[in-house]
Amino acid sequence: MKVSFTSTQTPKTKPEDSQLSFGTQFTDHMFLMDYNREKGWHDSRIVPYGNFSLPPSTTVLHYGQAIFEGLKAYRCPDDTIQLFRARDNFNRFNRSAKRMCIPEIDTDTVLEHLKDLIRTDREWVPSSRGTSLYIRPAIIATDPYLGIRASHTYRFFIILSPVGAYYPEGFNPVKIWVTSDYVRAVPGGVGEAKTAGNYAASLYASEEAQREGYTQVLWLDGKEHRYVEEVGSMNIFFVINNTIVTPALNGSILSGITRDTVIQMAKKQGIAVSEKRISMNEICDAHEKGWLSEAFGSGTAAVISPVGTIRYEDRVLTIQKGTAGPVASMLFDEITAIQYGEKKDPFQWTE
Ligand code: PMP
Repeated sequence: MKVSFTSTQTPKTKPEDSQLSFGTQFTDHMFLMDYNREKGWHDSRIVPYGNFSLPPSTTVLHYGQAIFEGLKAYRCPDDTIQLFRARDNFNRFNRSAKRMCIPEIDTDTVLEHLKDLIRTDREWVPSSRGTSLYIRPAIIATDPYLGIRASHTYRFFIILSPVGAYYPEGFNPVKIWVTSDYVRAVPGGVGEAKTAGNYAASLYASEEAQREGYTQVLWLDGKEHRYVEEVGSMNIFFVINNTIVTPALNGSILSGITRDTVIQMAKKQGIAVSEKRISMNEICDAHEKGWLSEAFGSGTAAVISPVGTIRYEDRVLTIQKGTAGPVASMLFDEITAIQYGEKKDPFQWTE
């Protein structure tokens, strides 16, 4: 599929690497395409980054029929730019699309369009260690209609944002707060889809956690409120008796690309990994016995985020004396070395 190209007439000043935060600045161009029932996905175009004009009746504004992805491109020492596991992100995007009654996209074609877009804005890809180009593909339902049904028209867009660290803490351990009152997802729900409403639903508990002095919420299962699911918008790992333990995918947990990266990397490094259902009581018990040596979250934004403190009801668990542990540090170093093209990629994650 051919892409039409309209260059910006008003290029913006690119930020210095040292000024980058997360998701506040956007490059000069974006990719768009539209869907209707007659033409399918059509009108692929790279255009100047700018506003959309939508009627107030647009269905996504009312009912949240929307999906998105988050992935990154990195500038390598030889100045090439590489994508990390982009195909996996677009495959997950299509799984989210299916769950939300949104027409799927052709992953190969879209990946080529993404590469075109990055080539267009390649000067925006930062080069310092810890910085990268965050890529946000999304689809929104665009019918101007207030009836509740799947939209017949959609807009797909990709915007690019040069980013620094996601958490102000950087690689320093975060404090997390277990909520037994609120849940992120339920069995049979949409927890496995990367859909807008999941994030809106998470805000109330996140704000409560922040008021209590915690960075993130640790979500328990939606049925019994006993089993660990995710931490904020990351998957969660524990190191118990030298085994890495993470909740098994169960339909309400988002299947994180970094989660899979951690599992594959850990196994390659000879560390045992167990994907299973695990309760907060088991975590407390392991902590009490001295078996819980580390906890960390995984996600595209932060890669690995060590957890130093977990508050669960009236208990406060301190892990690794509140510092980053050896397993989290090793995984962070090995994964980021591949992302930044500093080490060979035996997994074929980069392209
Ligand atoms: N869980 C949730 C709810 C998320 O939003 C994310 C971020 N996409 C993750 C986990 C981590 O997924 P990934 O490693 O693919 O970024």
